[in-house]
Amino acid sequence: MEVADSAQLLTSDGMLGPMHRPDCRLSTRRCVFSVALPRAVLSAWVLSCAAPAFAWSGHALDTWAALKDMPELARLEPVRVESLDAFLVAQADALGPVLDAAEAWSREHVPAYPPRPEALRFDAAGAQLPDERRRRFIAALRIAPDVRLALFLKRLSPNDAVGLPSLARSRVSTLADDDGEDKAGASPFVALREGETVSPLDVVATASDEPDYGLDIGLWENNGTEQGRVYGFGKQPFGNPALSFGTQAPFHMGFYYESPIVYAAAGFLKRTYPEYRIHLYRTLALHALRTGHDYWGWRFAGWAMHYIQDLTQPYHARVLPGVSTLRMLWINALDIAGAPGAKARAIRLVSNRHLALENFQRTAVVAEQGAAGEGPLLRALADESRGASRPTAATAGDEAGAGSSTVFGEDDPRAVVAKRSASAADALDREVAATLPARYVDDTGFEFGVDARGVDLNEQLAKNGPAARDAMIRVVVPLMREYGVYSRAFVRAMLAGGRPGNADPTRAR
Ligand SMILES: [Zn+2]
Repeated sequence: MEVADSAQLLTSDGMLGPMHRPDCRLSTRRCVFSVALPRAVLSAWVLSCAAPAFAWSGHALDTWAALKDMPELARLEPVRVESLDAFLVAQADALGPVLDAAEAWSREHVPAYPPRPEALRFDAAGAQLPDERRRRFIAALRIAPDVRLALFLKRLSPNDAVGLPSLARSRVSTLADDDGEDKAGASPFVALREGETVSPLDVVATASDEPDYGLDIGLWENNGTEQGRVYGFGKQPFGNPALSFGTQAPFHMGFYYESPIVYAAAGFLKRTYPEYRIHLYRTLALHALRTGHDYWGWRFAGWAMHYIQDLTQPYHARVLPGVSTLRMLWINALDIAGAPGAKARAIRLVSNRHLALENFQRTAVVAEQGAAGEGPLLRALADESRGASRPTAATAGDEAGAGSSTVFGEDDPRAVVAKRSASAADALDREVAATLPARYVDDTGFEFGVDARGVDLNEQLAKNGPAARDAMIRVVVPLMREYGVYSRAFVRAMLAGGRPGNADPTRAR
């Protein structure tokens, strides 16, 4: 994304409100700097980082690898595929209060939470037609009204689900088919029919991809959409409101661990909402599992898991990894003094490294899966060497992440996952910069999102620099381990809390 465009777009509306008072706990010198840091400039910084909002771009395969060896999941009976309409009819009376409880949690726990307008409260009374019931449910979740919500699975390899009818990408996702899969008859999706059975693992793995299929697009007041005007989210806090895919970024990124001086200058950075999505969908998942609607239970669980997994990507948990607050202020001062080059270069480099990391991760996992069906990244995703133990809020700061909690708590996306991800971000950025070809991560004349289309970084490194490829694998392994650990902990929370009559174990923390 062009830096110039971003700055221009971000100075044009009300999100660039008056400067906050500097944080008085900081030194006088720093306070002065914060006053000199216009919000517009920080907006532009954030925008560039928000462009690659896919995070890990193959959630389905990564989730499958993380969960496939879980005996608790493997021993579950297959679940019966149910249409959303059937689920909504069966739970018409129960869902209003269930969603109200989720809403009350978000109002209490999510900082800067934009409350759901009362008019969107789910009430099925008087909705005779399935379309109307569905419309009200989608509005209560505040997701895009054109979401497909088809019954489908994503194939993880060409040999998967061979007997099932292929389903075009356009029937599953509202995003443009950039790779021309539909045209080439190469959609990775297959259709499910109501009443047939499918494994919970397949449902949850497929669903963990789904929030990237258009659910969170065009929801802000200034996106020029009807839903944006009524959903109550306010104006898009960062990112280009005219670029549809970018509009989902504030739901898929969690900037909880920036320096106070950054928040003082740019309060809009607090308006990131993965916690809201995670809690909303986990609430629905638990309700569906407890009431015998297991297909939707695992599907909603996959939706929630997506946002947890996004937070394990350090470039989704910090605004500008590798750039210190002081440096941000310095190059910003240069910009104000008429020398914008340093700022533009920093933005370009962070954005390129973000995309290059995701490209390497995705191509390397796919290669492992395609070749031997195993490899270091797939092993890291599935790594159960610590059993069910995982970091807790109390141990999130330890590098080893010791801990003993087996259940994924409702505060953990922020208190554990994003915290560990944010603290790993600076070192990760250094390693990415030192290991990947300089052209991709150290060349401000190169724009990865545009100039690297079709690049397979794993293949390139394997050919030209096996040592660099091995080094990158070592960089990505710990990230995949965290991804797997939280994915399994979340499934365990669903299993513990999803039985009829069980309370949500995560509430008792
Ligand atoms: Zn995402």
